[in-house]
Amino acid sequence: MLKAGYDRGQLDGIEWTGKRVSSEAEHVLASLRQQGERITIQRREVIEALSRDGGHLAIDDLHGALVRRGLDLNEPTIYRILQWLKDLCVVSQTDLGGNRVVYQMIGESRHHHLVCLNCHRVIEMDDRLLDDLRARLRQDYGFEPRIDHMAFFGLCSDCQAALETHT
Ligand SMILES: [Zn+2]
Ligand SMILES: [Zn+2]
Repeated sequence: MLKAGYDRGQLDGIEWTGKRVSSEAEHVLASLRQQGERITIQRREVIEALSRDGGHLAIDDLHGALVRRGLDLNEPTIYRILQWLKDLCVVSQTDLGGNRVVYQMIGESRHHHLVCLNCHRVIEMDDRLLDDLRARLRQDYGFEPRIDHMAFFGLCSDCQAALETHT
């Protein structure tokens, strides 16, 4: 039943397969349709998986989530869908270091991460800390930054303290 190539006309009016879809995914799908984007089953499933799992999914996580839904998309296909969503400012792509690139719905409440290079702890950071930077980039560079979901690398306070006692 899950087959490639359904267009949005065919999808509209189909009772979707039982699972309740989050309002975030519904909102995104509606807005993409409004922009004239074609919503295939694959695209829809990727959006729903990202929204259902709260984000921070690597491609292999998404692949696993889709397989569990009976949709075995290969990773290059998932990657292409993610790049399409990234270009449309729906999804952010963030390198968290250690070969871990994660994808996340941008949504309303933005946040960023502080990644410790020593213990690899990941700390969530408030988006408002970047408002001054955004303002300066607009003002001084005439640049409209897109800071969706960033990772800053450094040393956490525990590791700094541990390193200090060793010197
Ligand atoms: Zn995050
Ligand atoms: Zn650390």
